[in-house]
Amino acid sequence: MRCPFCSHTETQVVETRESDEGDVVRRRRRCLGCDKRFTTYERAEIALPVVVKKDGTRADFDPAKLRASMQLALRKRPVSIEQVDAAMERIQETLLTSGAREIPSTRLGELVMRELKRIDKVAYVRFASVYRSFEDVDEFRQLIRDI
Ligand SMILES: [Zn+2]
Repeated sequence: MRCPFCSHTETQVVETRESDEGDVVRRRRRCLGCDKRFTTYERAEIALPVVVKKDGTRADFDPAKLRASMQLALRKRPVSIEQVDAAMERIQETLLTSGAREIPSTRLGELVMRELKRIDKVAYVRFASVYRSFEDVDEFRQLIRDI
């Protein structure tokens, strides 16, 4: 940790304290070069995986985009914003706890379909039909049968 005053590289931690929620560690440091004191904050990095598209390109996980596609499928359906929020939370929690650095977009689509299947069957079929761009009619029939 470089001193912000003199750029000296050696500092000494004089005090360490956790925030009440326990998610931030605050450290009081003393510069061994100029003796000035400063505070650093340490927070666990919450990293959502990068989405790998079918063509191999990568994009940052975009919750707004995911929500928009879900809401499109849920258009004019009797589903509350709270239900969508909860579904979004479950998806992001799954991504976070997986610990994966990358996730195929197909897997992300499956997670969305799993949630939609739970909250609204019509939205599920809408999303799935667009998402899977059915190869044949039988596949679609099978999906309808599964519901
Ligand atoms: Zn210094």
